[in-house]
Amino acid sequence: MAKDNVDLICDISELAGLFERSHSLADFLQSAVSIVAYHMRAAVCSIYLYDEQTEELTLAATQGLKPESVGNVKLKLGEGIVGTAMKDLQPICEGHGSANPNFKRIEGIFEENYEAFLAVPILLRGVMRVGVLVTQDPQPDYFHINDIKALRAIASQLAVVIENAKLLMSLHEARKQTTPAAAPEHSPAMVSFLKGTTASSGVVQGTAVILDGHGYDVLTVAADDETSPYTLEDFNLALQESEEQLTELQRHMEERLGDVASLIFNAHLLILKDMGFSGAMRKLIDQGTPADRAVSSVVNDYISLFAKSSNPRLREKVLDVKDLGHRLLRNLQQHGEDHGDYAGQIIIARELLPSDVLKFAAQSVEGLIIVQGSVTSHISILARSLRVPMVFVEKPEILDIDEGTVILIDANQGTVFLDPSEKILRQYEPLIHKEEDAPPEVFPETFTRDGTKITIHCNVNLLSDMEFARQNLAEGVGLYRSEFPFIVRDEFPSEEAQKLIYEKIFAGLPDKEVTLRTLDVGGDKKLPYHQHLEEANPFLGLRAIRFSLKNLPIFKQQLRAMLRAGHEKNLRIMIPFISSVDDFLAAKDVLEACKKELADEGVPFNPSPAMGPMIELPAAVEIIDELAQESDFLCIGTNDLIQYLLAVDRTNESVSSLYVCHHPAVLRAVYRIINAAINNDVDVSVCGDMALNTEMLKFLIGIGLRKISVDPQHIPRIQSFIRELHTEEARQHARKLLRFGTLREVNRFLSERSD
Ligand code: PEP
Ligand code: MG
Repeated sequence: MAKDNVDLICDISELAGLFERSHSLADFLQSAVSIVAYHMRAAVCSIYLYDEQTEELTLAATQGLKPESVGNVKLKLGEGIVGTAMKDLQPICEGHGSANPNFKRIEGIFEENYEAFLAVPILLRGVMRVGVLVTQDPQPDYFHINDIKALRAIASQLAVVIENAKLLMSLHEARKQTTPAAAPEHSPAMVSFLKGTTASSGVVQGTAVILDGHGYDVLTVAADDETSPYTLEDFNLALQESEEQLTELQRHMEERLGDVASLIFNAHLLILKDMGFSGAMRKLIDQGTPADRAVSSVVNDYISLFAKSSNPRLREKVLDVKDLGHRLLRNLQQHGEDHGDYAGQIIIARELLPSDVLKFAAQSVEGLIIVQGSVTSHISILARSLRVPMVFVEKPEILDIDEGTVILIDANQGTVFLDPSEKILRQYEPLIHKEEDAPPEVFPETFTRDGTKITIHCNVNLLSDMEFARQNLAEGVGLYRSEFPFIVRDEFPSEEAQKLIYEKIFAGLPDKEVTLRTLDVGGDKKLPYHQHLEEANPFLGLRAIRFSLKNLPIFKQQLRAMLRAGHEKNLRIMIPFISSVDDFLAAKDVLEACKKELADEGVPFNPSPAMGPMIELPAAVEIIDELAQESDFLCIGTNDLIQYLLAVDRTNESVSSLYVCHHPAVLRAVYRIINAAINNDVDVSVCGDMALNTEMLKFLIGIGLRKISVDPQHIPRIQSFIRELHTEEARQHARKLLRFGTLREVNRFLSERSD
C-alpha cells in the first residue's frame, strides 16, 4: 500500500485535535504513534522520551512492538540508533537498521523482523532534547527523504505538547515541597500621564494587569462570596465549559492565524485536564469548601509553585494558570458566557513574546503597554496586524501601579493615562466607543487626477491581513514578510507548512501578483529555537540573505515551498538585504538548484518566477544599474534604507528624531534607484513606510514611481490622496525637494506647505 501524502501527516490540526481528545500524555502519545504508523504505512511507530537528569531515553509509546515494553526499554544517550539520533540531534534513516554500527538489538520486544529504521529526534526550539520518534518496517529501504521530512514536522509539534506535559509533571514534584507565596505588595501609582510611542494605533480603556516578571498576583474571590452557593455539580459543569471554550479558542486561532498560532492554548488545556489540578479542587469541594474558594485556592497554589520555579519555561506558565482560574470562576458564576480572559483589561509588561501577543489578542485584550521595545520590532508589527492598540513607554515605574487601576490608552498619540479624571474619560468617550465607520469607498484601480495609473499593492505579515487586502481591493501582495511563521513558532516550519501558508496568500487574492520575501531574520528578529551567533552589532551581522546563504537547507526549503505554492501563479520572489550583485546571483543559483531538484522529483512548481532584490542598503544604491540588469524587479525598502543610510537604529527610541524619511540623502538615494529602474526598464516599487507619508508619496510619484505597497488598512486613505493628485504637481514638488542640501531647508519647505 502506498504511503499517505506528506501533507496529511504535517497537518498540525490533526495533532492538536488528537491532544484535545486525549486524557493523559501517555494516552496522547499512544494515539500519536498509531496515527503516524497508519499514515506512514509503517509496521512500527514508537516514541522514546528523554530524561535530562539521567541522560536516558525510555520507550513511552509504541504501535507494533510488544506493548509491555513501554516504560521498560531504556537507552543511554548515544546508545543504539535511537540514542545516537538523540545525541547528534540528527535523524538517522537506515535501509537495513542492523547494518548500522550503532544498532543495538533489544531482546523480547519483537523488533527482529523490522529492517528499515527511521529515528527522528524530537527537539524543542531545535536544540532541547525531548525524545525520539521512530518508525520501523520489515521492507528494507522502506523510508525516504519525504518520510524524514514528515516525521520532522510531526516531531516538532510533539515537542511542544510533551514539553508542556513534562512541565506539569515537574510541578507535581515541586508541589510536595513548597508553600504558597505571599501576594506582592504594590506601591501606589506614581504617575498619572505618560507619553510613549505608538506601536499600534487605537483608543481603548481598561483595567491594568501587570506582568513585571518580579512577582505574581494571586487569584482572589470577592469576600461576600463567603456563603457561596456553588456546588460540585456547578464545578463539574464549569470545568466542562472551560474545556469546550478553550478547544474552540484553539480551533478559532488555528483557523484565523494558523500561520503563526499552532497549539497556542495547549498548556491551558493540559493543566485543565491534569487530575492534580481539577482533582485537588474536587477534593476541597468534597471536604466542604465552596467551589469558587476551592478554585482560587488550588490556582493560587499553582501560581506560587510556578512563580518560584527555577525553570523559566515553568515561570512562563503562571499566566496560563491564572487565565484558567479566571475562566473557571467566570464559568461558575455565569455559566458558559465566554467574554475572553482579558476583555476589559490592559496589559502592562516589561516585554512580551510574539506568542504572548497572539494569546492576549485571542483572549480579547483591550490594549498593551510595553516598557521596552520599538515601533518597528516584530511585536509591534504583530499587534498592528492583530489590531490591538499598543504603546511603548520608557518609564518602568508604570510596572509599580496597582493592578486594576483604570488605564486609558490613546495609541494614536502614544499617550497613556493612569486613573484618568472624569473629564478626560468624557473627552475620550466618543473615540473609545466609536461605532465602526462605514467602510470607505475603494476602487479596484487607482489613477491620479490626470489619469496616470498608480498600482497599490499591500504588505502582508500574517495571513489574517489578507482579509483587509481583499476588502480594500489590493491589486496584489507587494511584500509578504515570511519571517513571522518562523519567529512565532517553536520550530522551523516545515516545507509543507510553509507551502500551505504561501498557498493561502495566493488564494487570498486570486490571479494577482504576489511577492514573497525570503526570510529576513537577524537584526532584532531572532528565532527563539535557532542558535544565532552572539553579535555585537546584529543589524550589521548575519541578517536576511546572509543568514539564508549560511543556512542553505533552510533557504532551500523555503524556496522550494515558494516555487511549489506558486505553481501556475503570478509569483515573485524577493531577496532582502542585498549588498552586492554577488549575493543576489548566489541566491539565484540556489533558486535554480531548487528548480532542478523539484523537476527531478516530478513535483509541480513555478519554473519561471520573477526574482528581485530589496533595495535597502546604501551599497545597493551604488551598484543599482548592475543590480537592475540582473533583476526582474526592484523593491525599495525605505525602512531599512533610512536606517543604514543615516546610521540611525530604527529600533532605538533615543535616536528616533534622527530617523527622517525626508533627509536629502534619502530623497536623492531613492531618486537614483527609481531613475535606474526606469532607465533599465525594470519594474520598481516602494514597500517601506515612506509611502504612507503623503508628502513623500507625492515626491515618489513626482520622480516617476508608479507602484507602491502599503499595509492594507491604509489603502483607502492612500488611494483617495492619489486620486486628488496631479502628476505635474507631484513633479514640481519633487524637483524642489531634490534641490535642498540641508534638512533645515526641507523641513521649512514641508512646514510652509502644511500651513
Ligand atoms: C523595509 O526595510 O523598508 C521593509 C519594508 O522591510 P522590513 O520593514 O521588514 O525590514
Ligand atoms: Mg527591510
